[in-house]
Amino acid sequence: MITYEYQCPACGADQAVKHSIKDEPQVACPQCGQPMKRSLSGGDSFQVKGGTVRSHVQQKQARKASEDMNHAEKVARQIKDTYQPKLREAAEKRLDATKPPKDE
Ligand SMILES: [Zn+2]
Repeated sequence: MITYEYQCPACGADQAVKHSIKDEPQVACPQCGQPMKRSLSGGDSFQVKGGTVRSHVQQKQARKASEDMNHAEKVARQIKDTYQPKLREAAEKRLDATKPPKDE
């Protein structure tokens, strides 16, 4: 028996399932009941028990990190969208103030 990582494509839940290398069982997501997909994270299946557990945690941390990054990116974009026009406006006003008035 080998421990495989399964991940739900619908809600992202994951769970370890033990089955034979020849089996392709249908694993239902414990959270939403969707069929889970075997995670394609390479050599995990052939690691010893402790290694599998550690890599499970690492996967969670990696996913958390990428979620945090996406969130930070989103916030940065929002800040940019909100403040950039104001900053530009302020910069233009400052420029106007330091320039002598133009004859146009
Ligand atoms: Zn699910």
